[in-house]
Amino acid sequence: DSKLSPFRLAVIGSGPAGFYTAYRVLKDHPSTLVDMYESLPIPFGLVRYGVAPDHPEVKNVQHRFDEVGQDSRYTFIGNVKYGEDLTITDLKSQYDAIVFSYGASQERSLGIKNEDEPIRNIFSARAFVGWYNGLPQYRDLEPDLTCTDTAVVIGHGNVALDVGRILLTDVMELSKTDITEYALEKLGKSKIRKVIIVGRRGPLQVSFTAKELREMMNLPNTKFHTDFEFIKNELSANVDFISKNRPLKRLMQILEKGRSNTIGDKSWSLKFLRSPDEFLAHDDNDPIRPKYVRAIKFHINKLEGPPEKRVAVPTGKMEELESGLVLKSVGYKSVPIKGLPFDEKKGLVPNYKGKILDNDNNEQPGLYVAGWLKRGPQGVIATTMYDAFETAEAIVSDIKQNKPMLSFQTTKKGSDAIIPILHQRGVRTISYDDWKKIEEKENEAGRVKNKPREKFGRIEDVLFTLDT
Ligand code: FAD
Repeated sequence: DSKLSPFRLAVIGSGPAGFYTAYRVLKDHPSTLVDMYESLPIPFGLVRYGVAPDHPEVKNVQHRFDEVGQDSRYTFIGNVKYGEDLTITDLKSQYDAIVFSYGASQERSLGIKNEDEPIRNIFSARAFVGWYNGLPQYRDLEPDLTCTDTAVVIGHGNVALDVGRILLTDVMELSKTDITEYALEKLGKSKIRKVIIVGRRGPLQVSFTAKELREMMNLPNTKFHTDFEFIKNELSANVDFISKNRPLKRLMQILEKGRSNTIGDKSWSLKFLRSPDEFLAHDDNDPIRPKYVRAIKFHINKLEGPPEKRVAVPTGKMEELESGLVLKSVGYKSVPIKGLPFDEKKGLVPNYKGKILDNDNNEQPGLYVAGWLKRGPQGVIATTMYDAFETAEAIVSDIKQNKPMLSFQTTKKGSDAIIPILHQRGVRTISYDDWKKIEEKENEAGRVKNKPREKFGRIEDVLFTLDT
């Protein structure tokens, strides 16, 4: 009897999109049971592995997620990789509907010369951020912070400012955060004194926001430099455009005020109108830094088009910037997984308000998407929350209208049926209670060091701690 059996919803991915969708469906539809599958043994996605360690207030959303985690109608099944350990066929037989919220787990590439060469000390911001935040995949990244005094960050978004700020912040300050101990140790020995943050267009086209820019401007003992003349010209040429955009106006004020940051042993700068063309490396036989990055060659651009759609056009002139550490911060990228429609061009799952569409724009019964996988990899947690609520509303409304779901006539057992299958396949599943034990261990280790937590950097260690 479909009236008596609960509605079974599977959620793939435990970042903000997954949790906010689950929260809203549980709240608005009392007979739904939610099972959330996560590839890592630990929940919360980029809230844990993306958000900077010196932004603890941003991580407070975890309290809301924790309420969901403790709900008797919710089950967390960690350490399960959808697409490898679990397929859509497995899920279709045991669920009425599935929400895909597995985010954007890869980085975009620049597509420039030598990018795929094994040149040392060039990393994506995703890898570097993952490294200092304890993402197991990057535990052994080993960036060399002692071989150079200059780091170049490519990209003008908030993640670029995050990595720049972490490189320039005093380790005494960082030691009070949940940054991993192994990263802190390396940052403590860092010789980086200068961070150059490079973008292809101008000051009006940056995508970082006021809070992050202000934090850079307020870094103690750190000078700021940029081409103030160019900024002045851009501002006076676009007065109307700027006056209609308050956040942009605020941002430009903060930039201009940076003129007074002229004192400090360390420095950071914003460079505009530069598109990378090639990475240049030290020789293989270089006695000191074999195969290390030496410099980046840039095209010098000019701007064309109306202010809201300015494009960078190469002038034909080139410039080289010397640097022994390069961080590429040009965005994240979602990956398609078998059985799911995917728009390669936009890098997302095609959908209408969260309902997945096939190639002919037909709604797929019982299949939904939320978060970065739905909108593309941009937007803060608040944006992701509204977006997840939209998906949740679509689900609840479809349930109430009795719309077709995944072959809705049979009784579904959800994780009660899936977990034994996973165990048969040799997958060690992690429950929410397991996570609470892991969390307690991390908090305990943190207390000893006066920091909020000391994260486990390796999956083996997480699993080992559950066995002891
Ligand atoms: P994610 O948070 O990425 O969650 C996806 C989850 O799916 C992950 O847990 C992942 O492990 C899991 N997963 C992936 N593949 C699979 C699979 N095959 N099977 C099962 N599970 C899988 N926003 C702010 O508001 N403030 C900030 O300060 C801030 N800082 C940021 C810093 C960085 C470096 C980045 C990258 C983002 C930052 N954001 C910040 C944005 C915020 O993190 C995103 O808006 C939000 O995390 C997107 O949520 P999501 O659930 O779509 O994706």
